Amino acid sequence: MPIHEKNLIRPENLKTHENLTIDGVNVSGHWSTFIAPRVITDYNEKIEAEISALPGGEHINRCWQCGSCTNSCTVNAVNPDFNPRYWIYLIRMGMESELLRDKDIIWQCVSCNKCTYACPRDVFPEGVMKATAHWLELQGHTPKSKSTIFDEEFTEQVVATGKIEEGRIIRNFFTKTRQPLFQEWLIEMAMRVARHMPVRLGFLMGLSTVIRPRTRGWSKARDAITDYVNEQEVKQRQALGLRENEGKTGRQHEN
Ligand code: SF4
Ligand code: SF4
Repeated sequence: MPIHEKNLIRPENLKTHENLTIDGVNVSGHWSTFIAPRVITDYNEKIEAEISALPGGEHINRCWQCGSCTNSCTVNAVNPDFNPRYWIYLIRMGMESELLRDKDIIWQCVSCNKCTYACPRDVFPEGVMKATAHWLELQGHTPKSKSTIFDEEFTEQVVATGKIEEGRIIRNFFTKTRQPLFQEWLIEMAMRVARHMPVRLGFLMGLSTVIRPRTRGWSKARDAITDYVNEQEVKQRQALGLRENEGKTGRQHEN
């Protein structure tokens, strides 16, 4: 499948001659634009299998490159370089170095799932974007993104207690990402919520950020979830050929 979007041609590969005449015909400027040939030798034939082994990437092999995901994508509408179809193409071709050129924007997927609804092949492109961002992190190509840190904090709390405490999640997320706790937008939001919140509920919310309440009888569920998560993470590391602790984010049982 050819790469058919003009914006995918890197500027350094476009060659334009200001003055060029061929067989007596003046083809200067725009008419003499050529695309420099590229020779790619560093194919990574394992990359599709590795991303397929991660949650969300399972159906990447179904893609037939129709482009509906990119056409419907929220982020692509504001940044044409964000191109799920193209990245799926690169992954399936094993063109790792080309994929790595976009490693700093792949994580920007906002999980709106417009692509998922548009995809005629049930590839779940949103899942592929998540799996690709995860793969980039596990392979050490990118630092852990803020969205990953938020997901980990959220998951850790749900697994540990069977409950979600927004205040605690935000506080821990800001601490882990070295952000100040008192941010203008957050104070404004808290004040608006507080204006309409019953006093008792506000008191209980404040208290729960301190005492960390748990769902009654949660320990069995917690242990089962923890075992499953650790099992999946071992499988994923093995699929990527990582050593035992490389990329490890598995959680331990709490006592
Ligand atoms: S889920 Fe991600 S890739 Fe899909 S349309 Fe939304 S922003 Fe684009
Ligand atoms: S919409 Fe589906 S089949 Fe079409 S390019 Fe995107 S992932 Fe592939």
